[in-house]
Amino acid sequence: MKIQAKAIIFDQGNTLIIDPFSGILELHKHEFRGLCAKYGVEVSEKELTDQWIKANREVDFPYLSHFMQEEPIVQRALAGLKVAEETAAQLGLELLKEYRACYQAFIRTDPRSAEVRETLGELKKRGKRLGVFSNDRVLGLGMALNLMAIRPLFEYVETSESTGFEKPDPRVFEHIIAHFGLAPEEIVYVGDDQIRDIDAAKKHGLKAVWYKVDSRRYSEPWRDYEIRGQCRADAGVNSFSELLAVLE
Ligand SMILES: [Mg+2]
Repeated sequence: MKIQAKAIIFDQGNTLIIDPFSGILELHKHEFRGLCAKYGVEVSEKELTDQWIKANREVDFPYLSHFMQEEPIVQRALAGLKVAEETAAQLGLELLKEYRACYQAFIRTDPRSAEVRETLGELKKRGKRLGVFSNDRVLGLGMALNLMAIRPLFEYVETSESTGFEKPDPRVFEHIIAHFGLAPEEIVYVGDDQIRDIDAAKKHGLKAVWYKVDSRRYSEPWRDYEIRGQCRADAGVNSFSELLAVLE
């Protein structure tokens, strides 16, 4: 049975965009190592990527964008490589600049961006009101939505940074319900995280669709893919376009 809804709210990370971080490091490790060498830091590609991945796992202060990357993560990686602070201050910015250029190119060229755009366009044609709430920074979310050319499709775009609270905080869902002015059961939340997305939405009476990603490949301390949540999603999908089949 299809899920009936007037509004559909999406999570960003591993729902609208699949985590490109480790893929970018693998593809561009030669350039990143070259930047280090330019600053007199002699490290192997493996040492650099190992430390960067470790830092990305460990650093998670509120509103930090892991997909876009941010300075505290890069600085933790450089500290792990024992790079002198005065060198790290400049080298960190160069690595970040290069990473962001790679990230932007990834979003523009990833075939999945087109799949997401077409699916959202079709939902819009069906008269659905669309929104996005992400535990992220305003800049990170806005950049991604604009690069994917989907920003105009959403009437509601909020982040933990803009509202001051992050999922699974109940205020996130109260904020969504208040914006749309609909009964909770007329709203569907689509996300990949059992605790922050599915449980949290269901506890507020919203419907929930679980976007299933490879939990071994994308496991990070700040994600919860274990099915130890208390609530069952109303439906599960393995690809973005599948949403057209499960949503009325
Ligand atoms: Mg997510």
